[in-house]
Amino acid sequence: MEGPGEYLRDVTEGITQVEDLPKPKVVQQSRNYKRRPCPSCGRSAYRDRVVTRVLHDLGDLKINRPLDLRVTCSQHYCSHCDIYFHADMNDLALPKAHYTHRVVSMAVRLVVEDGLPYRTASWHLWRDHRVFVPFATIQNWVEAGGKKGRGTRGHGVSGRGVGRLQRVHRGR
Ligand SMILES: [Zn+2]
Repeated sequence: MEGPGEYLRDVTEGITQVEDLPKPKVVQQSRNYKRRPCPSCGRSAYRDRVVTRVLHDLGDLKINRPLDLRVTCSQHYCSHCDIYFHADMNDLALPKAHYTHRVVSMAVRLVVEDGLPYRTASWHLWRDHRVFVPFATIQNWVEAGGKKGRGTRGHGVSGRGVGRLQRVHRGR
């Protein structure tokens, strides 16, 4: 083990291009089902197709690399309601989010509880957890949490409301 005060060179020192960052370790996860209950009417809906979603998680410090979850997720069609919806993965992340709950709560904690400025929190997440989050994204999370905002700006409604049904339009 290294003694106290020994200088450990950060492997990312001097890196300015995002493409030069260490490649993430990819962990497969599955939320792939044949049938799921429709979120609107509750009828069982067949799988229509399978989509893949990548979520950035807190990194793997043992191997000093970022960690991505590659989630295969079934998309279902309810013929009764004529809607498409994804299998639930709310245990991992919010709909449409690119980061896991773990990353979001860590980032918000750094700002709200530890009082770090956004840029410092962003750097801290990279240095200690190997997850790259732009500081503006952290700012959005904190403001959406409403914990730090003293007095809401404007109406306080960002229009980024998260639909509970995760409706998906069939892309062409
Ligand atoms: Zn339905």
